[in-house]
Amino acid sequence: MIRLHDTMARQKRPFVPANPQRITMYVCGPTVYGRAHIGNARPAVVFDTLARLIRHEFGQNSLVYARNVTDVDDKIIAAAQAEGVDPSVITERYERHYLEDMGALGVDAPDIAPHATKEIGAMVAMIERLIEGGHAYEAMGHVLFSVPSDPDYGALSKRDRDQMIAGARVEVAPYKRDPADFVLWKPSPDGVIGWDSPWGRGRPGWHVECSAMIERHLGETIDIHGGGLDLIFPHHENEIAQSRCVHGGVPLARFWVHNGFLDMGAEKMSKSLGNIVTPAELLAQGHRGETLRLALLSAHYRQPLPWTDTLVAQAKATLDGLYRKAADAEPGEVDAGVVEALEDDLNTPLALSRLSAVDDARALKASAQLLGLLGRTSEQWFQGDTDAGAIDLRIAERAAAKKARDFATADRIRDELKADGIILEDGAAGTTWRRE
Ligand code: AMP
Ligand code: ZN
Repeated sequence: MIRLHDTMARQKRPFVPANPQRITMYVCGPTVYGRAHIGNARPAVVFDTLARLIRHEFGQNSLVYARNVTDVDDKIIAAAQAEGVDPSVITERYERHYLEDMGALGVDAPDIAPHATKEIGAMVAMIERLIEGGHAYEAMGHVLFSVPSDPDYGALSKRDRDQMIAGARVEVAPYKRDPADFVLWKPSPDGVIGWDSPWGRGRPGWHVECSAMIERHLGETIDIHGGGLDLIFPHHENEIAQSRCVHGGVPLARFWVHNGFLDMGAEKMSKSLGNIVTPAELLAQGHRGETLRLALLSAHYRQPLPWTDTLVAQAKATLDGLYRKAADAEPGEVDAGVVEALEDDLNTPLALSRLSAVDDARALKASAQLLGLLGRTSEQWFQGDTDAGAIDLRIAERAAAKKARDFATADRIRDELKADGIILEDGAAGTTWRRE
């Protein structure tokens, strides 16, 4: 039985899905205007691991995992203007990079990846229902959610009104009736990406995107909603308010799961602080994707994770030991102790320490693969290639190209690697490589 810490309940609760044949999980995905940093990879790896555990317990086809792509946003518009290109050039480039970078860390693509720009109709319809229900109003080309119209607002973050207003750093704008009200729709001037709507040409706010996509792809109430700790307020609080108000009070999610921050000593890794390290850089330095994945799983997902060179070196040493022991065994039965650790609110540090104590090579291999590790042969691991990380990234680039049906690029990557003496082999568990 899986137990998960639910931010709403502030405690661990047994995870009993509403329908074990169709478990629904939604994780707020990237805003695609720049390359992801290793902190952004933490939720991707954590929820990928949770998805693996759920599939292990309930069946391979039991889970529908959706992660959105925010492809309309002020930062995207700014990046497009800075380069003098259409926003789609920016969003397509960085979505592709995101899939490459996460793919190199062994993160499987989610089952559904809805894009904001493809769901404008659903968002407009949701906003109209909010207005009809008295939960939203139009003012000066904007549509605002009326926070005072929702008596349950604040249940997730448990903040009082003053804290909420301070936390959201809300501007007191002339079109707001209440400083806590937030934007559902805003006007787009000529030359800025926008869509026609009952309130004029404009674009949606970020929060309504997730509520509309969840309703459309997964339903009114989902089993698990995930994301980083920073999303609890205001983003998830606002998602809850929007969805509950259009759905007659039914809750948006049965479990709220939030990961802690990856930090650089004193400070959270963040683009705005300029202290970022990207998976792409780490891979280019020769670290393998699997090493980075294990490093990300080495702390419990709710705890802070200080990112250091030592952490990465330790992860590499741990994997050396695991590969030595697993040799080339075929995966057998998953070790019960490892599963039990994961079932306890995804306790990956405990699972990893138990993994290291598994003696049977076949059980070791199967248990590691549940964590997304030991996906290759020991020969591939120990070839001691300084280019190993860079090759991982090229393989992930090829997989992303194939997924985008860009077969020319996929073939080009294969040929370029071949010219360097690297032969790719596509198998059931993904692509591996060897030296010619
Ligand atoms: P952003 O691009 O900032 O919206 O972040 C995308 C996702 O990465 C969100 O789920 C954030 O909560 C998460 N995130 C951002 N920075 C970090 C960090 N330093 N550690 C862990 N998660 C992070
Ligand atoms: Zn969201």
